[in-house]
Amino acid sequence: MRRLLLPVLILLALPAAAQKVEGGRRTAGRPLVVIDAGHGGRDPGTLAPNGNAREKDVTLKVARAIRDALVKSGRVRVALTRDDDRFVALGERVRIARRLRADLFLSIHADSAPNRAARGASVYILSDIASDAQAARLAAKENSADRAGGVDLRAQPADVRSILADLAQRETMNESAAFARLVTLETDKSVRFRTVARRSANFAVLRSGGIPAVLYETGYLSNADDAAFLATAAGRRAIADGARKAIETQLARAAR
Ligand SMILES: [Zn+2]
Repeated sequence: MRRLLLPVLILLALPAAAQKVEGGRRTAGRPLVVIDAGHGGRDPGTLAPNGNAREKDVTLKVARAIRDALVKSGRVRVALTRDDDRFVALGERVRIARRLRADLFLSIHADSAPNRAARGASVYILSDIASDAQAARLAAKENSADRAGGVDLRAQPADVRSILADLAQRETMNESAAFARLVTLETDKSVRFRTVARRSANFAVLRSGGIPAVLYETGYLSNADDAAFLATAAGRRAIADGARKAIETQLARAAR
């Protein structure tokens, strides 16, 4: 029995999946961004009404496109929270970023709406109070990912503190807002944003504890044009290139 115990303990101590930090030795010591592909495994996320697309597949492809663009550019280090089709709880996504001592966190998602004309991308930051009712509904939907993945929410400690409780957190919020602005500014016209492109709500995955964090809704799977854009490598590259520029600018600013 004793011989069995040690390997079992080692297995238990290991993180669920080791995240590969890319960007090469050349960039060791450079700032690190964690790209989070939303959903995965038994949590498919939102589904296209025609059944042709699942959010978890789109987010992984977009996250990989952003990683590839960053690695090619070689200015920052990058890691993904998941690089395959697996379930990762929201709290674990945040823990991965903390464990890697990330300087920036970008969570990738796609939306859907009953109104199939609704389209365009938006970027969200964390806030106690949602910027609008639609943002509040979206946060509730995204926060239910853990339930879809079978996580027992009763076992989660309740976070009773206000998000904006301290000044350090306020500074993180300011940096998150600046980064959200950069994502829209550095992305060229090929990516269509909603009229009000920047919003805020209480997203669990953005409770990053001091790491500037943004949630990027890359478009609506319920809209034919958005879905077609996200389904092509060229569309995803356009999103990735804007995100890469925003990440590099943000991290260069933070390093000064
Ligand atoms: Zn999502």
